[in-house]
Amino acid sequence: NSFGETELEEGLKRNIERCKYVKPTPIQRHAIPIASAGRDLMACAQTGSGKTAAFCFPIISGILSLKARSPSGLYSMSRGGGGGSVAYPTALILAPTRELSSQIHDEAKKFAYQTGLKVVVCYGGAPVSHQLRNLERGVDILVATPGRLVDFIERERVSLSKIKYLALDEADRMLDMGFERQIRKIVQQMNMPPPGSRQTLLFSATFPTDIQKLASDFLSDYIFLSV
Ligand code: AMP
Repeated sequence: NSFGETELEEGLKRNIERCKYVKPTPIQRHAIPIASAGRDLMACAQTGSGKTAAFCFPIISGILSLKARSPSGLYSMSRGGGGGSVAYPTALILAPTRELSSQIHDEAKKFAYQTGLKVVVCYGGAPVSHQLRNLERGVDILVATPGRLVDFIERERVSLSKIKYLALDEADRMLDMGFERQIRKIVQQMNMPPPGSRQTLLFSATFPTDIQKLASDFLSDYIFLSV
């Protein structure tokens, strides 16, 4: 019943300690082992439940173990149509608002501290130049709002073809804000079959029919968790 006992990479465990997280919250206690085992997950969790760490820990740990096996590094760059470079994140975390995405970014950076993982955030309502510069330096984990991400995909500055982990935070709020079309467009960009090549974690405060539909479209053989 502590983070020390969980099967997370050592570098991440050090950061968890540094953040003074001692005991997992209920959502973390249940979600982390399921996600660490590679399963897709639909979790009903409220703000304040510790949901950010519940999806960040398995993603960070998973990328660290991928990198340990392929030390040359996962993220790569290439030239895009517009002349700029294209970033290929390994994980994508989608969130509805600028505020939430920058909170997730701040937390993820603390958890990824000194691991070599690069976390970048992209949201609307702010100039693109700074965000593009950050992407050019390489990105393992991209935290983004749907509109700005679609923009960067269309400009060929981000490619989702190498995504191994997808997390959707506050999915119900994203649908309420009218992001369904963008979200579907984003998920369509990701690696196609073989199935299981992408792991998806869907977090939502509620589980109405439109979220159930999203879960059945985006997740495969998923576990439903409600705390
Ligand atoms: P969240 O629901 O992800 O927004 O988290 C709510 C707050 O709880 C944030 O300030 C987190 O830093 C904090 N928190 C999350 N998990 C833990 C934990 N296991 N121990 C202590 N604080 C935590």
